[in-house]
Amino acid sequence: MNKIYLYNTLTRKKEEFKPIKKGMVGLYTCGPTVYNYAHIGNLRTYVFEDVLRRTLEYNGLKVKHVMNITDVGHLTSDADSGEDKVEKTAKKEKKTVWQIAEFYTKAFRQDLKDLNIQEPHIWCKATDHIKNQIATIQKLEEKGFTYQTDDGIYFDTSKFKNYGELARLDVKGLKAGARIKLRAGKKNPTDFALWKFSYPRGRSFDAAQDNVASRRQMEWDSPWGLGFPGWHIECSTMSTKYLGQPFDIHTGGVDHISVHHPNEIAQSEAAHGKKMTNFWLHGEFLIIKDQKMAKSGGNFITLDSLKNKGVDPLAYRYLILTSHYRSKLNFSWKSLTAAESALKSIYHQVEQFDSPKVGRAELEQKFLKAINNDLDTPRAIAILWELLKSNYPTDAKKKTLLEFDRVLGLGLAKIKKKKLSIPKAVKDLAEQREKARKKKDFSTADTLRIKIEKLGFQVLDTKEGPNIIKKE
Ligand SMILES: [Zn+2]
Repeated sequence: MNKIYLYNTLTRKKEEFKPIKKGMVGLYTCGPTVYNYAHIGNLRTYVFEDVLRRTLEYNGLKVKHVMNITDVGHLTSDADSGEDKVEKTAKKEKKTVWQIAEFYTKAFRQDLKDLNIQEPHIWCKATDHIKNQIATIQKLEEKGFTYQTDDGIYFDTSKFKNYGELARLDVKGLKAGARIKLRAGKKNPTDFALWKFSYPRGRSFDAAQDNVASRRQMEWDSPWGLGFPGWHIECSTMSTKYLGQPFDIHTGGVDHISVHHPNEIAQSEAAHGKKMTNFWLHGEFLIIKDQKMAKSGGNFITLDSLKNKGVDPLAYRYLILTSHYRSKLNFSWKSLTAAESALKSIYHQVEQFDSPKVGRAELEQKFLKAINNDLDTPRAIAILWELLKSNYPTDAKKKTLLEFDRVLGLGLAKIKKKKLSIPKAVKDLAEQREKARKKKDFSTADTLRIKIEKLGFQVLDTKEGPNIIKKE
């Protein structure tokens, strides 16, 4: 068994990864909030997580991969205020929240497919797990971690030792700085909503009294009144439900390090009195014109917009792989074009390759070492090119490339050998050349070789006889 090293955000160190249960890995990846298309910056995170899963599988581990779909509770502000993102879009597009959630879930799954990202084994929707989330909140209530305000049930972060450890949060400093700005009823600036009331104090709907134009489409009864779960509680509840606690690896984008993930840890560990997860991995941002890509900013690019420009989505995947997941990646159309021509060149070469036979163990070992070193995909891509440029027979190249592609996922297995249509003139020249060679008339053979090359072909003299290929 080869050693796998992963950078753990919890310890800020590269550590050897050892699964809790031998040969098995529980992996939870924070999923999308389905109120809009994912942008290519979001998708970079899912590619990184896909490479992580494929690397674990390449090492012979059996991965159980769980991803949530946030269809309720994600508010437009991290400070537990603002509108529910899905409700807001539904209002704007004059559709039901369920239509919105379904539409954008489908779009997201199409993005995954286009990028050759393996789907999780378990998809879990927040709205399918309301009872479970209520049960987790009740557990936290029993243990004294909650309090009630006018607009909901909150988690008291001052009761949880080590709150914000993942983010290295300066909780005391935050407290001092934010004392005056605290939202009504919140005890500490880092406290967050577990359950939000649809109406103040969970009363029933009264449009006149509550001064609201319409009621929410998504709301449920709870021991505290009509309302809906906060965003963070779904991940705590569903990860524990499907993977137990502790589980092996939890991932997400770096934007989750400061709020969402510390909150998940606080909830899960306070409720169950056990460590939530052993490894936390985070993918860096995609940068465009010196800014991170964001739905709110003007630099919002979807995968569809790449496809509409005729770009193969896998060219974007290739571009992602050329940079390490913990480094910011600068996106430009120029770099995407370069990635696309690199990928096309790989495809073109693979088209000429013979059926896979015995691979090159030394390069496969080198590749394994690279990806097991905290998913060093830039190094892995360099090794791929080393292989392509080598003098190994094409059947060996193909075998090893297909091994690499189990991790890289560039769709190389689908590339079929191109049947070469060789013009009659070339065939005739090759035949004359073979005759000359047999007569040991090498000067004629050489002249004929040059003629063949001028027509864009090349003759390889193999044990089985001359083999005509396209000139590289
Ligand atoms: Zn999450």
